[in-house]
Amino acid sequence: MAPTNGNAGQPAIHRVLVVPFLEMDLAFACDLHCRGCTHYSNYGLKGHVAFRQGGDWLRAWATRLIPETFSMLGGEPALNPDLVAYLKLAQLLWPNARRILISNGLGLARRPDLLAAIAETGTRLDVSVHSYRDFAYLERFNQALLAIEEARLAHGFEMILRTAEHSFTRTYRGEGPAMRPFADGSPEASWEGCIGKLCRTLHDGRIWKCPPLAFLGKVADRFGLRDVPEWQPYLAYQPISVEATEAEMRDFFTREAETVCGMCPAQPQTFEQGDITKAWRPPADPAG
Ligand code: SF4
Ligand code: SF4
Repeated sequence: MAPTNGNAGQPAIHRVLVVPFLEMDLAFACDLHCRGCTHYSNYGLKGHVAFRQGGDWLRAWATRLIPETFSMLGGEPALNPDLVAYLKLAQLLWPNARRILISNGLGLARRPDLLAAIAETGTRLDVSVHSYRDFAYLERFNQALLAIEEARLAHGFEMILRTAEHSFTRTYRGEGPAMRPFADGSPEASWEGCIGKLCRTLHDGRIWKCPPLAFLGKVADRFGLRDVPEWQPYLAYQPISVEATEAEMRDFFTREAETVCGMCPAQPQTFEQGDITKAWRPPADPAG
């Protein structure tokens, strides 16, 4: 039902809220396996958001907010066959926003239509470097980068190389079926150390506080974590819907630490990525 403003039967009138940042995963799958990926895409998540669905979400949210920056990412967004349609719609809905496509770069050169559309829509392309130690990856990456640079010279789009994204902070302990929240007992400290404070994420039509909460259900399904008691408080997190009142929306976008931040470490440790080409495998069963 549409919200009302207290005048019987009249739909509520909302002012469109300007927010600093919004992002959206266009694909959950990725062709790399960075350990501790905050979107859990290193664990072989599948699929992408079809434009007929994701486009409706964006049109609905554009009636409620204008992000100063809108990032399209994943997973690897170039694995979404509808990516060009997303770039065009984002430009139409939020022409004055800084619109960014964040990619690992490996598959972009196979999509000349995409590289042209990046230029035509005024989208900034951010290419992330995820390891300086995985030589198989570096060989592919360097070739991909050359092709992207050729396209940049031909089409003239803005591009940024993110050179620091080989350094990660984990948002969970353990791996795969043994993943658990940190639950260090100090959500405020976890929030203080969080590097994704601004990363409000559009997923499933609603906006979530951050990617680790948005995609937790996906990794829980992948590894049978839905019934693990430690995960229950975080799996119960409720994102905001497009029907929220203006006050609820303001509260959501300005809220800082909350109980769910206890999922993340109170004292985050950074580590450097090594091999990101091979998928994570559970340790061999010594009895097996
Ligand atoms: S490139 Fe690495 S960090 Fe980015 S989505 Fe893939 S696995 Fe995650
Ligand atoms: S749960 Fe809180 S601390 Fe953890 S990533 Fe999200 S916003 Fe940051």
